[in-house]
Amino acid sequence: MGRNRHVNIPVFVPHMGCPHACIFCDQKRISGSLDPQTPEKARTLLEESFSTVSRDDHVEIAFFGGSFTAIPEKEMISYLEAAKPYIDEGRAEGIRLSTRPDAIDHHVLSILRDYGVKVIELGVQSLDPDVLAKSQRGHSVEDVFAACALVREYGFSLGIQTMLGLPGDSLEKSLETARGVIDLKPDMVRIYPALILKGTLMEELYLDGSYKPLDLDEAVEWCAQVLPLYRKAGITILRIGLQTSGTLEGSVVAGPYHPAFGELVESRILLKKMTEEIDRLDISENTRLVIKTRPEYMSRIIGQNRRNIEQLKKQYGLKDIHVAADSCCGEFSLKILG
Ligand code: SF4
Repeated sequence: MGRNRHVNIPVFVPHMGCPHACIFCDQKRISGSLDPQTPEKARTLLEESFSTVSRDDHVEIAFFGGSFTAIPEKEMISYLEAAKPYIDEGRAEGIRLSTRPDAIDHHVLSILRDYGVKVIELGVQSLDPDVLAKSQRGHSVEDVFAACALVREYGFSLGIQTMLGLPGDSLEKSLETARGVIDLKPDMVRIYPALILKGTLMEELYLDGSYKPLDLDEAVEWCAQVLPLYRKAGITILRIGLQTSGTLEGSVVAGPYHPAFGELVESRILLKKMTEEIDRLDISENTRLVIKTRPEYMSRIIGQNRRNIEQLKKQYGLKDIHVAADSCCGEFSLKILG
């Protein structure tokens, strides 16, 4: 077993305590088909998980899948109590959890702080009031601002989750949301393209034709425009696209799902950068181009099914593009062969 690994122990609390029914959310349906989570089960899961990690590992306990702070207080505290021995013994460095912006206040944050919670991730989805309303989020943009300020005031690390392509969304609104999120100075973000999952209200809208999800190419393009804004602001991007799992794949009815969605986005970002660089080179038609890149970037540079290479050839009328691995290179360098 490796030493000093970062280990995340997830405790899934699907839809528990959440009185809402956001149109994209299938947590209620999932929780109906699963054995309900209980503090006792969480205790057992933690015991089992901690028996497999080394004392040298950096361990974090993560309560995910619902709105943790909307769980009735007594029960929420039982979950925190299940994690407490590991925090007290120093075997876990902290707890992270996800919740809704309108489900926190001074009282709940002081409880979380006392129990060793370090990171709070807020499901924000959008900073556009119309998108929030159409998604039936049940909270306002002002709730988001207030929640972020409170999370900061109590000294937690702040994570923000956003969703692109919800009903009423547009590329401009998603970019505005990203700019607004950056102003809130989160430590980290997760970006998800909206997918239509079985049993959700969004599925009904899709089936009756009143909502059309982004197609894969649009979703990749939107994310490829949004991501660099966060990177430029120095914000850690924890995830792009939902984590692939058999359960997720079985649930997706429609929408821009791809098991390597993040890779597609990174590849599109590189395509944009290469295009900017070629524009600067003032290249003439029928020339040959060599792209050197680090071995680990090769597949992103080439793109899935050689998409980037074919696009560049077509766009600039190039005769040929040769991609070569060069570990001394940065992301890439271009050379015209004539
Ligand atoms: S607040 Fe979260 S858990 Fe509740 S319905 Fe919305 S997305 Fe699902």
